[in-house]
Amino acid sequence: ADVLALQAIRKSYAIGTPVETEVLHGIDLTLRAGEFVALIGPSGSGKSTLLNIIGLLDSPTSGRLEVTGADTTQLDDAARTRLRGHAIGFVFQYHYLISAFTAAENVMMPMLVDRGHPDRQMEQRADELLDWVGLSRWRNNRATNMSGGQQQRVAIARALAMEPALVLADEPTGNLDTASADSVFALLRRINAERGTTFLVVTHNMALAERCDRIVELVDGRIHAERA
Ligand code: ADP
Ligand code: ADP
Repeated sequence: ADVLALQAIRKSYAIGTPVETEVLHGIDLTLRAGEFVALIGPSGSGKSTLLNIIGLLDSPTSGRLEVTGADTTQLDDAARTRLRGHAIGFVFQYHYLISAFTAAENVMMPMLVDRGHPDRQMEQRADELLDWVGLSRWRNNRATNMSGGQQQRVAIARALAMEPALVLADEPTGNLDTASADSVFALLRRINAERGTTFLVVTHNMALAERCDRIVELVDGRIHAERA
C-alpha cells in the first residue's frame, strides 16, 4: 500500500504582485508503507515547500496529494488538521520541546491536543516510547536538563505518540555532533525496521542519505534523480 502519493504537485507563491513564482514544477512521488526515503537537494530547491505540502501545513497550487489513501484535496480544514494529527509525525532540526515540561509530558503533548485520551493510556504510551528511544530513566526530567541528542530523542518519541503511518523529518540530525547524529539516525532506522513507520528525511548529510532505502533529489523545484 502507498502511504503517500503525489501527482503533478505544483506550488506558486504570489509575492505581493500579480506575478506568481512557481517553486515546485510538477512533483510525482510515491512512498510505499515501510520505506525510508532521503530527500536531498541544494538550498532553495523546494525541499521545505514540499515537506510543508506533504505535511498538510500548506496547500499545493495544483495537483493531487493522497496521504494514507485519503485524497487531501477533498478535505476541509478541520479534516486536514485531523488527518495531519493522526497520520503524520514531525521531527525538525530543532526539537521544539516545551522546556518547563518533563520528557514524558512532552511526549504526551500530541495526545493532549487530540483530546479524549485517558491519562493512563497517555502515560503508558509515553513510557513505551521513551523506552524505545532509550530514555526511560529520564521520563521525569525537564527537557532543559537534557543533552541535544537526548532532546532530539524525546522529540522523536513525541512524533510517534499518535502512531503515525508517516514521519516527516527535516534535517533531524542537523544540530547534532557527528556521534549524536549517527545514533539519532540509527534510532530512526530502527523505528522504521521494527515499527514499520514510513520516513521521509530531508538531509544535507550524504553519508546518512546513502543509508536510506532510496534517495530523491530535488533541483530547482523538480525531481532531478531518484537513486535506489
Ligand atoms: P531550509 O530548508 O530552511 O530552507 P536550507 O536548505 O537553506 O534550509 O539549509 C538548511 C541548513 O543547511 C542551513 O544552515 C544551510 O546553511 C545548510 N546547507 C544548505 N545547503 C547545504 C549543503 N549543500 N551542504 C551542507 N549544508 C548546507
Ligand atoms: P529548500 O528547503 O530546498 O531550501 P524552500 O522550499 O525553502 O527550499 O524554497 C524554495 C523556493 O521557494 C525558494 O526560491 C524560496 O525563496 C521560495 N519560497 C519559499 N517559501 C516562500 C514564501 N513563503 N514566499 C515566497 N517564496 C518562498
